[in-house]
Amino acid sequence: MSKFCPYCGEELIDNAKFCKSCGKSLEDFKSSPGTQNIQYPPSAVENDHTFATVLGYIFAILIPLFGIIISVYLLTRNDSQKAARHGKYILILSIFIWIISFLLIR
Ligand SMILES: [Zn+2]
Repeated sequence: MSKFCPYCGEELIDNAKFCKSCGKSLEDFKSSPGTQNIQYPPSAVENDHTFATVLGYIFAILIPLFGIIISVYLLTRNDSQKAARHGKYILILSIFIWIISFLLIR
């Protein structure tokens, strides 16, 4: 997708910080979709963790032992703070439900 300089109308390369024609800074125009993607990690990585996170919550309720395994997996993902945070919640939820199920069986 090509962009155009808001000052002189020159066509710009993606992710350009300065206009090559007039030399003006383009940092003020960050709202355009071309520049916004740089600040976020690739969505494919996040999607993997989202799947594991959803799976983790389901297992935490149905099979707490599997929930704990998935929470350990999420807690060891160094590339996503979101995954680590959900991993903590899933771990707490799994242990909580495990204790409850033990109490109910007895
Ligand atoms: Zn320009």
